[in-house]
Parts: sequence; structure tokens; C-alpha cells
Amino acid sequence: MLDDVLAKVYADIAPHIGEGRVANYIPALARIDPSKFGMAIATVDGELHVIGDAHEPFSIQSVSKVFTLTLALGRVGEGLWKRVGREPSGTPFNSIIQLENERGIPRNPFINAGAIVVADVLLSGHQPKETLGEILQFVRQIADDDEIAIDRDVARSEQETGFRNAALANYMHAFSNIENPVEKTLGVYFHQCALSMSCAQLAKAGLFLANGGRLAGRGPSVVSAERARRINALMLTCGHYDASGDFAFRVGLPGKSGVGGGILVSVPGKASVAVWSPGLNENGNSATGTRALESFARHTGWSIFG
Ligand code: GLN
Repeated sequence: MLDDVLAKVYADIAPHIGEGRVANYIPALARIDPSKFGMAIATVDGELHVIGDAHEPFSIQSVSKVFTLTLALGRVGEGLWKRVGREPSGTPFNSIIQLENERGIPRNPFINAGAIVVADVLLSGHQPKETLGEILQFVRQIADDDEIAIDRDVARSEQETGFRNAALANYMHAFSNIENPVEKTLGVYFHQCALSMSCAQLAKAGLFLANGGRLAGRGPSVVSAERARRINALMLTCGHYDASGDFAFRVGLPGKSGVGGGILVSVPGKASVAVWSPGLNENGNSATGTRALESFARHTGWSIFG
């Protein structure tokens, strides 16, 4: 059934492959072929269904924020919410505008400012190398794939051009919401964003969110069912920045996007879905990827809104 669904989705989006604009503010991402398209579904029963370029690694960028949030909640628990909020921002991913009124507390962990605080939480008490090792090990473990790596060229490219992120980090440091030296925290953040994964690896890595906190089947717990539910809630409300409402309207599933053109979606109780198409819409979310998920939700009838 899901192979048929993927074939139908592909037929629906084929005329739109290449639409949108590849992110060019990170020079290493500007070189990506805009005609790529891949999609993978990992089910709670342990099946994997793929179509297109689903085994080709791409820069997951902000999709990594789901994994670092999961790790940070594991590290400091609910205390995390003293340093980052959990409300949708209604502003673009790299916006600084709300930070002044809210005294350096970012609106949520999925905008850049929030993810930089989460990276800072993971860094405290460690060297950047150790924190990155922990992030990489976690992602490899939940995807059951030791091939997953960080693309150093992408990280360097972003480090050289990430002036807005540096501004956010410095601004929050002024409110004492960054504990470590700003360049170290940013180093962790840029490297986590440079994680390179395929749709197949990403769908498997996200499965715990759809499966009550567990890996496939009745496998080991990554987080409690309650925590998985809460992370899904944040993905639904904040995962697409100022287009989170539109994504809920069109797709109706918790999702997290990245400027590499990837989107990770969870279908609670059923499956985890990853899609990749590098061209972005005006909100910095994959244009054809969103279209593919809209088609997927229509053909499966899977949506948390019934
Ligand atoms: N690394 C990117 C940045 O900080 C991540 C943004 C994104 O994927 N939305 O600008």
C-alpha cells in the first residue's frame, strides 16, 4: 500500500520538481542540484519504503534541532523551559526581533535562537568535540546507521557566513542566556546543522516520535511516550517557523523543516516520513517537499486532525 502511495505522490509532484530557490546564504548549499527529490517512510512495524533519491545524503540543517532538543531534555529535563519558550514565533527562523522584549529567552527551540540555546545546554561541562560526538552517536544509534556523518565543508561555510546567528548568540549572551563562549556554542550549532543524512536515515531516526518514544516495533525507548508527544506538539506548532500554521493546514502532521530542503514528519502510531527537495519557498521550507507531504496526507488519509 505504501509503495503505491509513494508512486502516486511522485506522480503528483513530478511537474513541480526543481521549483523554489535553493538556499544560497550558506555558500556550500547553493551548489546543490535543485532537481533532487527523495522520500522515505519508516513504519512502526519496521518497514522502510522509499522513492527517488531517498538514499542520497543531504544537509539536514534545522531538522537537527529535533534531535538536539531531545538530547537537551534528556540532559536537563523540564528545566530547559526556563531558558527557551515553547510558543510559535510567527517570525522567520533567523529573526532577532522578539529577543529584546523577551529578555534573551527565545520563543521556542526550533527557531535559530532557541536551537543555539539548546546547543549551549548540550555544551555546558563539555568540549565542543565531545558534544558533537554525543549528537552524532545519538543520531547514529536511533537511525541504526554508523555511516551518518557531519559535512565539515558545510559547517565551515556556515561558520564563515553566519553573522546573523552570531548576532543572536551574542545578544542572548548579553542576557546571560548563553553560558559558554559564544564561538564555541556557535561551533556546535553550525556542526549539528551540517549533519548529512539521507531520507531513509532520517525517517528511521525520527521513528521514535511516531512510536511513543520507541524505536521500531517494541524496541528500546529513546524517550518516554509523554516526551515524544510533547516534541510532536512543538513540531506541529513551531516546526515550520512562520509557516507552521500553513503546514498544519496543508499537511496536518507534526513536521520539522531545514533549509537543506529536508522535512521530517511524524504520523503518531503509524510512521515517520522524510522528504527532500532542495528548492525552498519564501518561508525557507522545501516547496516541493511540502507539496509531496500534502499529497501523502491526502492519499493515506493520515493526519492528526482526522
Ligand atoms: N543552519 C541554518 C541557519 O542557522 C539552519 C536554518 C534552517 O534550516 N532553517 O541559518
